[in-house]
Amino acid sequence: MGTRRAASYLVTFVALLLAAVAGCSRATPPGTAVSRGPASAQRNGRPAAATPVAPAPAQPAADAASATPPGHSPAAGSHAAPAAGPQALGSLAPNETGQVMIVEYHVIGPEEGRWARTPENFRRDLEELYRRGYRPVNLTDLLDRRVDLPKGYSPVVLTFDDGTAGQFRYIVKDGKRLIDPDSAVGILLDFHEKHPDWGLRATFYVNDLPFEQADSWPEKVRFLVEQGFEVGNHTLTHANLARLDAAGTMRELAGQVRLLREAVPDLQPQTLALPYGGLPRAAEAAKTGSHQGTSYRIRAFLLVGANPAPSPHSPRFDPYRLPRIQAVDSRFESTSNLDRWLRYFDEHPERRYVSDGDPATVAGLSGGPGQVAPDAGKTTTEP
Ligand SMILES: [Zn+2]
Repeated sequence: MGTRRAASYLVTFVALLLAAVAGCSRATPPGTAVSRGPASAQRNGRPAAATPVAPAPAQPAADAASATPPGHSPAAGSHAAPAAGPQALGSLAPNETGQVMIVEYHVIGPEEGRWARTPENFRRDLEELYRRGYRPVNLTDLLDRRVDLPKGYSPVVLTFDDGTAGQFRYIVKDGKRLIDPDSAVGILLDFHEKHPDWGLRATFYVNDLPFEQADSWPEKVRFLVEQGFEVGNHTLTHANLARLDAAGTMRELAGQVRLLREAVPDLQPQTLALPYGGLPRAAEAAKTGSHQGTSYRIRAFLLVGANPAPSPHSPRFDPYRLPRIQAVDSRFESTSNLDRWLRYFDEHPERRYVSDGDPATVAGLSGGPGQVAPDAGKTTTEP
């Protein structure tokens, strides 16, 4: 084995190690004290939530200053975002080789936490994105390189992991069943009504009891698909795929597809949010496989942290290693939180994916042919 090859294996090993510890809310790194996480973590005898390990700092090149751009006060909690983005809506030069934020939510509920966002802060996130000219697309739109937005606008992908009740809850009021206006879906529907150009686009990664209301989950999954949202795979039992062999991986992924097809018979979840952020040990089995007559094909893996993703037109775009931005208060996560990256792109608008208004062409900086824009750097698990 050549030295380079050995070095490459070492890098891969370190990356896997990082992936194993940079988990999501239910991660239980060996020897880590278990603390309380999302309530959902306790259901079905799943591993309890644990103290998560913060992702490795994801400093973009020359980014030390950009966390607190000139003219903005340093972050003091998540409400430190500037009052408005610096650019007029739609005025940014097209650059479809710029980066895209894939934003990650877990619990939507009354308490802000490491893996939780309040309804108020979720609404505020939508407002902040909206007035800066971001518009939602589904993850598969990105994979298909079919970002269909007006010229000067940027795609953002909203993702929700774990299918927690606060993401989509029914409540009964005056004898009528309603979508909880404080659940993520209720908030998204309301936001769309007020801002029709904010489409009903987001991807929900669920497990064996989507959204935690046993009597209504099939209806919810159907509703989401009908509205234009996506439902993705997050394994049947929130399994750590870094520890499963091919057979176990197929059981988990096909099992989830089989369950979802009880709601929508032809549903084929195309993307996988990796529980705990763990890269699958049986990588090929996580991409395509079958179990007991149900087969699947997964086109992308989502990591837990911690950067914007490269443009799908960039050679750096690796669909099986897509990083995400975490929509949490900077008190809980200081490097990969949404407010920080909003400020980053305020400061570096040339690094942001900006549509040219024509899904059939790829505009680079200055509207010329696409070329690779400066990239913001590493993911939590990237060598
Ligand atoms: Zn999860």
